[in-house]
Amino acid sequence: MKKTKIICTIGPASNNAALLSRMAEAGMNVVRLNFSHGTHNDHLKVIEYIKDLRKKSGINIGILQDLSGPKIRVGSLPDHGIVLEKNTVVYFYHGADYFIDSNSAVIPVNYPHLLKDVNEKSTILLDDGLLELAIEKKDKNRLRARVIRGGVLKSHKGINFPNQILSQRIPTTKDLEDLAFGIKHEVDFVALSFVQTADDIRCVKQKIRAKKSKAQIIAKLERQVALKNVDEIIAAADGIMVARGDLGIETDISMIPIHQKMIVRKCNLQSKPVIIATQMLDSMMRNPIPTRAEVTDVANAIYDGSDAIMLSGETAVGKYPLQTVQMMNKIADNVEHNLGLDRGWIIDSGNHIKHGEETAIAQAVCQSAKDLKAKFIVVHTMSGQTARFISMFRPETPILAVTPLESTYRQLSLIWGITPILLPEIKYHFMDIIKSTEAVLLKTRYVKIGDLLVISTGLPTAKPGATNLMKIHTVGDIQKS
Ligand code: PEP
Repeated sequence: MKKTKIICTIGPASNNAALLSRMAEAGMNVVRLNFSHGTHNDHLKVIEYIKDLRKKSGINIGILQDLSGPKIRVGSLPDHGIVLEKNTVVYFYHGADYFIDSNSAVIPVNYPHLLKDVNEKSTILLDDGLLELAIEKKDKNRLRARVIRGGVLKSHKGINFPNQILSQRIPTTKDLEDLAFGIKHEVDFVALSFVQTADDIRCVKQKIRAKKSKAQIIAKLERQVALKNVDEIIAAADGIMVARGDLGIETDISMIPIHQKMIVRKCNLQSKPVIIATQMLDSMMRNPIPTRAEVTDVANAIYDGSDAIMLSGETAVGKYPLQTVQMMNKIADNVEHNLGLDRGWIIDSGNHIKHGEETAIAQAVCQSAKDLKAKFIVVHTMSGQTARFISMFRPETPILAVTPLESTYRQLSLIWGITPILLPEIKYHFMDIIKSTEAVLLKTRYVKIGDLLVISTGLPTAKPGATNLMKIHTVGDIQKS
């Protein structure tokens, strides 16, 4: 039972039912639909494949909608692009057409607040940071910039303004249209790109709840300003993605490992799921095996304490989508069997952020399961919170999370160490709860008579946040209890 969850971005290389089924068998837990690419019809096709796969195979797969956010781009340029020579002057303006003025290139940008938001003496990065320019002056309608690191610039390449606070907030108009589509088709998670503050998250959460959706919000940390607001953003979001692609443009690329470790640690302490994303097995877009450095990157993300590891281009447009999932699964499996050698990241009682009955029970459950060599920890959970608290202590013992709610069942697909089980009937008396749990675990063949379980539950039943009981239980001993 793999503990680290695998997220796969779906695109032209993987959007067919047979391959998705094989990827699920190979260890994929969540599919990511990237709304920066593809049409609603493309995404709907994948959603329908996944819903069908869930029904036919019984495999629990979450669906994550990744909203594109305010990605700023260059407009249309001549077909072969334009050459930006080091030390030359170029201009940027908000508009559609490229032209030359007094021997200087005037480059169109799709961002209406360009002149308001960007300060003199700041930096512009183009095409994933490959080209760098310094803003020298704001003219009446244009920014004058000097090329620091030159190269060829092609149409519609991305632009980043590191360190600038952008007034274009999220969600954008496109995000809202995409969100309405996602909610209609019951996505489980909504990822927000270019989050700057906790208010960005609260605003989208309000819109999601107004439509009666329980979708959880994953904040993508990819801007410098988001790192400054990291604690409030983690507290407001349901989960975090370390979006290393844009983060490596917006901040010093050599700082990525330091940011990654800081974010993972903070999320672990707040029991919020954290995803490590981008270029994890990048070379497998072209080759059937990864580089040694990539294998080590995946392993280190798990050692750091991430809940989930994500594949992007590898599964969306790469040549070896299935092999990439198999490889990621194998690395996770090997690392998890060796985590006992390095448990420096485990959360102990002293330093996690939330303290209360649920965390006290969660810790006692993990310790008891270890001491008694229990086969499983079993947790009854409504919102998923108690299950997340147990996961926060990173027990060796696998966790079965039993829930009556389909939304919780799906969302637990992202949480480290948890195997969710759907049990729609709710029982109100203690022994009935134990009996129905035992019955579902026997039926699904997770347990057999004589297995030892450590069960956490709560009375009154079906009340979120009411975990207050722990039972050490041998399967089959119902009558003796
Ligand atoms: C990233 O920037 O690393 C990321 C995951 O976001 P996107 O794929 O939307 O660029």
